[in-house]
Formats: sequence, C-alpha cells, structure tokens
Amino acid sequence: MNATVLVCGEMFDGASEGLTGPVEILIEGNRIASVARSVDRPTGAQVIDLSDRTVSPGFIDTHVHLTMDAANLVQQTLESSASKALKGLGLAREYMNYGFTTLRDLGAADPEWPTVDLRDAINAGFVEGPRLVVAAHILSATAGHGDLGSFYNPRWTLPVSAVADDIGSIKALVRREHTFGGDWIKTTNTGGYFSAGDDPARVTWFDNEMEILTSTAHQLGMPVAVHTGAADGCKQAIRFGARSIEHAYLIDSEGLQMAEQAGSYVVPTMQMTQEDLHELKAGTLPCQAVWKFRRDNEKILASQRLLAASKVKVAYGTDCGMFPFSHGILEFQAMVKAGLSPIRALKAATSVAAELLGRDDLGVLAPGKLADIVAMSGDPTADIRATARVDFVMKDGIVYRETGRKSDTAIRA
Ligand SMILES: [Zn+2]
Repeated sequence: MNATVLVCGEMFDGASEGLTGPVEILIEGNRIASVARSVDRPTGAQVIDLSDRTVSPGFIDTHVHLTMDAANLVQQTLESSASKALKGLGLAREYMNYGFTTLRDLGAADPEWPTVDLRDAINAGFVEGPRLVVAAHILSATAGHGDLGSFYNPRWTLPVSAVADDIGSIKALVRREHTFGGDWIKTTNTGGYFSAGDDPARVTWFDNEMEILTSTAHQLGMPVAVHTGAADGCKQAIRFGARSIEHAYLIDSEGLQMAEQAGSYVVPTMQMTQEDLHELKAGTLPCQAVWKFRRDNEKILASQRLLAASKVKVAYGTDCGMFPFSHGILEFQAMVKAGLSPIRALKAATSVAAELLGRDDLGVLAPGKLADIVAMSGDPTADIRATARVDFVMKDGIVYRETGRKSDTAIRA
C-alpha cells in the first residue's frame, strides 16, 4: 500500500476551535492512518515537507454549477451535453487547484445528465477531478427561478428547464431525478436575481407542492436543497424539511430561529452578492437583475449580518458558474466580511459541509478519514486571506498540486 507522511507546521483539523499543530500525518492508500506529533514512517513512505505550511481538510464547495455558464447561458443551450460535461471537467480540475476536493453541483440546464456522467467518470477513475455530489436538474414551477423559458422567444420550446405545475408532475420530476442517478433534489421556491420573469421576494411553490416535492424526495432517500430568497420562502423550505437552504437572501430572525431548531443548513453564497454589487456599480449587471438587486441589496447584506450573529449551521457554497470559478475561494473572505469568525468560515468549508453532505469520512483530519488535505502559507484563523494561498492539494491520498508548482492551467477569469 502506498504510504505518505506529511510533516506539517500547523494544522486546522476541521473540527477544533483553533490550530493544533505542528503535527505529522501518515496516509496509507486513500485514508489517513494516523495524526500525531510524530508518526511511524513505513519503509518506502514518501515524506512531504509542509513544515512552513498550515494544513486543512480539503475544502468543500456545496453550491456550484459546473455546466452552467451564466455569462453565456442562452448560447450555451445550443451546445451538446457532452460538450458541457467536458468543459465542466476542465473547470472542476482547475477549481481543485484552489483546494476544493469535493463539490456539490446544484443543477445543469440540460435535457440530459452531464453532471451525473461527470461524477461517475471521476468515481470510476476514467478522469481525474474533485469528488462530486450531484443534483442533476433544478426543479421549479413554471415562471419560477428554474424556468429558463423566459430567456427565449415564446415560439421556442427548448428542453432546458425541469418545470411542473401539479402534484403528479412534481412527483414524476423528483422520481426521474432518482431514476437517472441524482444524489440530491434541487428546487427553487422563490424567484432569483439573474432569471427573467420572476422575483426573489415572491414564493413560487404552494405549500402542498413543496410538501409533495420534499416528501417524494425523502421517500427515495434524497435530501433536498432549496434555492430561496423571500423570508417566507426560507420558512416554507425549512417547514417542509429542506436539508439546506441556498442563498436565503432575505431570511429574517424568525427564519434563522426555525433553521436552528430544525437543524437546516444555510448556504449563503455571500461572494455572489459581492460580485453582483460590483456589477451593479459598474453597470454590467444584466437588465433583468438590476431592478431586483437594486431594491434588495441592502436587505441581503442585513440578512447576512443576522446570519453571522446567529448559531445556524453555515456551509460553504459559492454558486460558481454564475460567476467565475476563479473567485470561488473568495467566499471565505466574504463570510468574514459579513461577520463570521474565520474558524466558523473554515468549518463551513470542511466539517460542516461534510455533515451537510452526510459524509462522515470527509471534512476532518483524523485517522480513518479520506485523505483530502490542502496546505497554505500563513494562519487562516488569524487572517482568512491565507485560504487564497493554497498551493498543495491531495485528494484520496493522491497529490494533485505540490508546493512550488503553479496550477497547471490558469483558471479562466
Ligand atoms: Zn445556484
């Protein structure tokens, strides 16, 4: 069995309230065998010197869209599913260089299953990339955030949305996701900012529709992630058992209390708000987003501060695809800017994200866990910007990026 010893200057183990190094980590095969001040060095073990680095569990981004290019969404519709999967693979591999060893993809706008195929190809070892957890499509009401029909002239009926408007059709959509290999169900229960013809401040599923969607998913053992904006949308999603609420743009104190009591995770995608603010100021925000985002941006920032002051479980998620993957690492800084402590932000991307995904073999550096390990210079608990200096990436015991080596491919900005 291949053995590797990492000699680490400092360690954030994913669960502790501070750094707990210096330490050595012995990796055998794809798992961590021991973590101690000094570990055995089996004959032939490779020793990697990270004595001037801080190690952390590999980062987990729980909200990406590898096959959705927001800047070219309409044009992208004309591409084949295979083309989207191949481009998505490139993005996923490049993103791994920043330290992201596990991604939850929350939906393709495609009649086929490009992200499921991508996940399976990586798991089978046909291609190398981060571990993927996949919600294949975005289930929505007609005129909801996931209904992309509004991007096209009404004469075109393009199979890019997964929409339903009655109980039977909603059940069928959920069951189909299970049949063809989705891990999660993704739905939207309010409008969004980048979509045309909807409003994030309005709820788009009736209670009985949301209820049937989540209960059908749960019957099949699938957790549900809900894109939601309005305070009432956040509460509806929590009431009907969403495991994670995505964005939660306009969540209020009552909603946060409900999330805390129900144990729902919030994935606040705070860097996206920073990106949108920048675009609003620069005059480059798409016209369908301008009126909504201008109306709401201060309320979104206020909700983010409320979230930071709460005890709700926050998981790291970016919505990359809606903006460049090269900016996804900045979610750490956006979280701290909103008032989260650096430790809470680091846990959001490690142990808490792993817990959200139901993966007790990820997110923590301890014996028996999968060897997903990254290293950076500096102390991220003192200065969160250290997270943007990851230059060593191991996934499943295999080194994908070594210190001193630049990432193979420049991330597309
Ligand atoms: Zn999204």
